[in-house]
This record gives sequence, structure tokens and C-alpha cells, in this order.
Amino acid sequence: MLQIQNIKKQYKTGYLIQQALDNVSLSFRDSEFVSILGPSGSGKTTLLNIIGGLDQYDSGELMINGISTKKYRDKDWDSYRNHTVGFVFQSYNLIPHQSILANVELALTISGISRRERRQRAEQVLTQVGLGDQLHKRPNQMSGGQMQRVAIARALVNNPSILLADEPTGALDTATSLQIMELLREVSKERLVVMVTHNSELAERYSTRIVKLQDGRITDDSAPYTPEVGELPTPKYQSMGRV
Ligand code: ADP
Ligand code: MG
Repeated sequence: MLQIQNIKKQYKTGYLIQQALDNVSLSFRDSEFVSILGPSGSGKTTLLNIIGGLDQYDSGELMINGISTKKYRDKDWDSYRNHTVGFVFQSYNLIPHQSILANVELALTISGISRRERRQRAEQVLTQVGLGDQLHKRPNQMSGGQMQRVAIARALVNNPSILLADEPTGALDTATSLQIMELLREVSKERLVVMVTHNSELAERYSTRIVKLQDGRITDDSAPYTPEVGELPTPKYQSMGRV
């Protein structure tokens, strides 16, 4: 379970101080499709990056499976980023001169598995996103929607329990955007998907929960979640990541 409490984050550039997040608290269910909606500059990317361990916050608390990340050391953050979360970006960020199979295989951070199994896992997840017959293409031989599917496969190959997507359809036409949203909805059936978007139509049509941000503050949450104390995991379930 993922929770943030009273998160604040400022950016200082020269004399300019920007309050990117101002006292944001949110608890996420283990399986739901959350859209973070808000105008440009409202703090959406900052929030996603903090949740994903890509950026540090100034104050507040990020709890993962009931454990405060204040106690996290570098290796814990590495493990969290590598095994518990997967990222999808608007610009795909694929390696251009490698096949899509290689792109996905290279993202496998689970150690101690054979070459053959690595290939099998990559093939399996590419098939899952509908690209099983295109494994040997390079990204520049594909459409934007297909490249985003590869990026989603890459994010899923380590079987993370959380998928974070920053404007995943921002560069796609409407029809292709709908296909990507269908795929994300499918993914969210057994994990937490948090998607940042400024497209309210897509958010309303596909997600199970919409959180609105404005000037670094939450202005609306369509399905707030308050975990019961009894729902917190017992120590034997507190392992990080999922293999
Ligand atoms: P959004 O994703 O909603 O467009 P961001 O989270 O990217 O918003 O940005 C929130 C605010 O923080 C904006 O005012 C932005 O200019 C500022 N900001 C974001 N990243 C940085 C940075 N690395 N350095 C300075 N200011 C930043
Ligand atoms: Mg952004």
C-alpha cells in the first residue's frame, strides 16, 4: 500500500521559489486506476516523481507497505524503483537502435535468471500488450501507439505492483489514446496505476478515481481512501518489491 502524508516540495531557481506541492496527502488502494488531473504547472509530474522515488520531497511522509521511507537507504530506494514501480513517459524513452525485444529485456532488473528465461519474460509481456508478432522491429519502425505499448511492456516486465504514467497519451491521436487507455485499464485490474493527464475526458472514461491538483494542492478526490489500521500489513508481508 502506498500513502503520502503532508508532502511539501519547493523548487528554488535563483530568487524564484516555486511551491510545486503544498501539503498533499493521498492513500492509494493496491488495485485502482487513478488519474491525476490538473493544468500545466499544477504539480502533477512532481507528485508522480515523488511517489516513484525519482524525486525527493522537502517534508511530509511517503509510506510504502506501511513503512516510512524515512528509514530507506540508497539500496532500498534502488530496490523500490527497480522492482516495485514501473514508469511510462509521454516520450516513450526507448533505445532507438535496439529491437523492441531487447528494449524490454534490458529493463529486466531481476537477477539470477537465465538468458532464455529473460527472453521468455520479455516475449510474454510484449505479447500481452499486443506486439507478439513485432518482436524484432526497432522503435523507429513503429507508430507512436506501438512505441507506447513497448514502453508499457518495459514497465511491466519486472512485474511491479505500481505503474506510474506521466501523460502517456500526450503525443498520441485520439483513437490510439483510447487503445492505450484500454491497456492501462487492463493493467490496473491487478495493480495500482497512477496516471497524470490533463485530458479530463480520458480520465473520466477510464479511471476509477480522479484526483484534481491545482497550484500544488488537491482540490478534489472522487474516491478517497482511508486504510483501516487493521489493513496495514503484518511484518511477514512487509517485503519490498514483488518478483
Ligand atoms: P505539471 O506536471 O502539473 O505540469 P510540474 O510538477 O512539472 O507540473 O511543476 C510544478 C511546478 O514546479 C511548476 O511551477 C514548475 O515550473 C516547477 N518545477 C518543476 N520542476 C522543476 C525544476 N526541476 N526546477 C524548478 N522548478 C520546477
Ligand atoms: Mg508534467
